[in-house]
Amino acid sequence: MISFQYSRASNVAEAMRLMAGSPGAKFIAGGTNLVDLMKMEVERPTKLIDVSRLPLDKVEETAGGGLRIGALVRNSDLAYHPLVERRYPVLSSALLAGASQQLRNMASVGGNLLQRTRCAYFYDIATPCNKRAAGSGCSAIGGLNRMNAILGASDSCIAVHPSDMCVALAVLEAKIHVMGPRGERVIAFADFHRLPEDMPERDNNLNTDELVTAIELPLRGFATNYTYLKIRDRLSYAFALVSVAVGLELDRGRIKEARFALGGVAHKPWRNRQAEAVLSGRPADAGAFRQAADLVLLEAKGLEHNTFKIALARRAMIRALSQAARGTPQSQSNKKIA
Ligand SMILES: Cc1cc2nc3c(=O)[nH]c(=O)nc-3n(C[C@H](O)[C@H](O)[C@H](O)COP(=O)(O)OP(=O)(O)OC[C@H]3O[C@@H](n4cnc5c(N)ncnc54)[C@H](O)[C@@H]3O)c2cc1C
Ligand code: SF4
Repeated sequence: MISFQYSRASNVAEAMRLMAGSPGAKFIAGGTNLVDLMKMEVERPTKLIDVSRLPLDKVEETAGGGLRIGALVRNSDLAYHPLVERRYPVLSSALLAGASQQLRNMASVGGNLLQRTRCAYFYDIATPCNKRAAGSGCSAIGGLNRMNAILGASDSCIAVHPSDMCVALAVLEAKIHVMGPRGERVIAFADFHRLPEDMPERDNNLNTDELVTAIELPLRGFATNYTYLKIRDRLSYAFALVSVAVGLELDRGRIKEARFALGGVAHKPWRNRQAEAVLSGRPADAGAFRQAADLVLLEAKGLEHNTFKIALARRAMIRALSQAARGTPQSQSNKKIA
């Protein structure tokens, strides 16, 4: 029996007070990831601070025309929120591609951001894993690495970030609002998650005593030409082998701006600004999309069981960009674009 303390916070200040001076404490929201990790003894918090009743469950319009999404908004409430469906459909699609309806009803957006990798060795405490036990080694590099990274990996860790929501947030260039002992700070989405380098035990740049309070979306939502394409082993209830979120702005068939991000391939949602820039000003056609996809994959590296993901990622990017360009986000048309 592993014992731990449990407290429920009713406001942000109380959550901060409960966290102060407790280095082994963790916040818990929906519990859909943390409780599993505790049952498997991967995480052993000395104290759980339940933040699920904090008044951070609203979706509000910002003065700049964007949205502020409280960290406790449930994944399903966000996916079906009328403003998200209308203005940020790529986010809605990505959320609905994740987990199951029951899990989405429970999962919070803060918890989704901070969910941990699904690398099988991370969950198996009988095996070495640098992310779980720093310096113990990486069992996946020479092991079963079918689901692992092809981009941005290191000699210490080849895990991937499992979130669907985060791939859409990368394209939307969200900002993460955080409260800590020294007050509030805002982190650009691109700087929130980390690559593993030689410190894979750290998934992100949040300090352990900081609470995510909100996600802010800017005005631009790419609501006309977007897509979220998720390739997985089963049609539902499976993590991405490769996923692609796309937002395009077109002007009479030419690309004014392209943004796209990959999920399931790296330790964080993967964007390549150079590949996006080559699309700028080009006709929205398969030739341009092929060139962008090849650029993204220039540095891709496959291992024994996941090399197939390189070709899969290439095809997924070309298909997702083509779907977005046609304005058919759910593969409704097989028509070739000009
Ligand atoms: C069977 C299964 C299938 C799944 N499939 C998918 C999938 O296909 N795609 C996908 O994207 N996800 C999937 N998920 C993961 C699911 O989306 C996450 O478990 C969920 O989003 C986590 O949210 P939560 O509120 O339950 O977090 P919790 O489990 O409560 O917390 C997760 C982590 O976040 C921290 N935390 C939570 N809230 C805050 C906060 N406000 N500030 C600071 N730290 C915080 C906790 O300390 C903990 O470390 C799946 C999960 C399961 C169990
Ligand atoms: S890939 Fe990362 S999470 Fe998986 S075993 Fe290696 S160190 Fe652990």
